[in-house]
Amino acid sequence: MILECAHCRSHVQATIHGRYEKLSDGSGPSHLFSMLSCDRCKNPILIRQANVGNMAEGDKWDTPFQVFPSLDARVNPNAPREIQSAFEEACSCYRAQAYTASAMMCRKTLEGICDVHGIKAGTLAKSLKAMRDKGLIDDRLFEWSDSLRLAGNEAAHGVGLSIGQADARDILEFINAILDYIFSFRDRFEEFKKRRAKPNNKPT
Ligand SMILES: [Zn+2]
Repeated sequence: MILECAHCRSHVQATIHGRYEKLSDGSGPSHLFSMLSCDRCKNPILIRQANVGNMAEGDKWDTPFQVFPSLDARVNPNAPREIQSAFEEACSCYRAQAYTASAMMCRKTLEGICDVHGIKAGTLAKSLKAMRDKGLIDDRLFEWSDSLRLAGNEAAHGVGLSIGQADARDILEFINAILDYIFSFRDRFEEFKKRRAKPNNKPT
């Protein structure tokens, strides 16, 4: 079976060691749990698949959801409270396999970041450009956030459009990187520059 290994950060061949099917108790579909190991790094992986088949087709297992190791997105504690909650909700949606909702919450997180910096340029596209022009984000992050905005837009406006697990995971990780960049590294660097600028702190 080919799946994405969280350790190798790439798609790898994995060997199945065992399976357990939790039969439906009437409140939802049956779930198939598979215990695997990555052929490259030998680390364990546990996946869960829901039965999306029917009487005519028989069992049909959906796209695997990785139960272990779980997504290690932790919310940056330096970010303002409302931004943390938006991002936490994006993570909860992801864990519940609600990928389109997760992408929409990521877009909301991004809007929150613009708000906090007093940027209200009308559209999100213009706000992001303003963030880049103000030096809040660099060109690479702008490119990232711009593609996230597009993905989030698609999720928000196209009823027929939905986001897959891989895209939702990428969007979450990008947002996580942006939060770290803005609320940890950038702020710390600004403080560092301020400290350096004080005459009594200059090395003698
Ligand atoms: Zn691996």
